[in-house]
Amino acid sequence: MSTIAVRLAEVHARIEAALSASGRDPRSSGVRLVAVSKRHPPEAIREAYAAGQRAFGENYAQELESKAAALRDLVDIEWHFIGHLQTNKARVVAPIACIVHTVDSTYLAKELARRATSAPANRSRLEVLVEVNVSGEARKSGVSPQDLEEVLAAVEAAPVLSLRGLMTMPPFGDPAAARSIFSTLASIRNLHGGAPRLPDLSMGMSDDLELAIHAGATLVRIGTAIFGSRA
Ligand SMILES: *Cc1c(COP(=O)(O)O)cnc(C)c1O
Repeated sequence: MSTIAVRLAEVHARIEAALSASGRDPRSSGVRLVAVSKRHPPEAIREAYAAGQRAFGENYAQELESKAAALRDLVDIEWHFIGHLQTNKARVVAPIACIVHTVDSTYLAKELARRATSAPANRSRLEVLVEVNVSGEARKSGVSPQDLEEVLAAVEAAPVLSLRGLMTMPPFGDPAAARSIFSTLASIRNLHGGAPRLPDLSMGMSDDLELAIHAGATLVRIGTAIFGSRA
């Protein structure tokens, strides 16, 4: 097995262990693994794909565009856009991504809807998560909890978009903060219709995926633990 295949298997084992440790049934309450491939070459993605991985996360519109072109023979690959998205890049991302994790304004939601009319073969509507700024840090992207409902409504109003849930990112290197931010995101979901309206919670990275799964994550975004450190 390649290094990437071994690491993927390790991450799957961590996910399953975290699911059972937190009393979630690994078969019914699925957690999907998004392999974050930013700043790793297309060959690394091919290796993960060969090991069965299909969902890949990218942070930068141009990098997504060039990798999607280089890997267009992998017809069932599923691109997740997970970086901060400037409105003027919606036209690049919307026709490629299956899911955007980082919608943080009504304006961006509308722009994605306008640009999502062309789509990859394995997608109909563009799935959307709304990024919430739970900690209130000024430098973080994401919509404030007070403005969340307005953005959710804007996504639901666009027939070409499909509202899937919420995403958040804790401050770097602070596991105690991460724990409380993840559980706050789960509470915020409950204030806005719960799992029936917002089935997915995108939270958890290489260092804190167990905390996120414990708090109810359904999408974990894992880079370093699969691909190694970034250049
Ligand atoms: C880079 C990145 C990740 C992956 O982080 P790792 O610590 O390498 O697992 C996850 N989510 C977002 C939004 C990122 O930018």
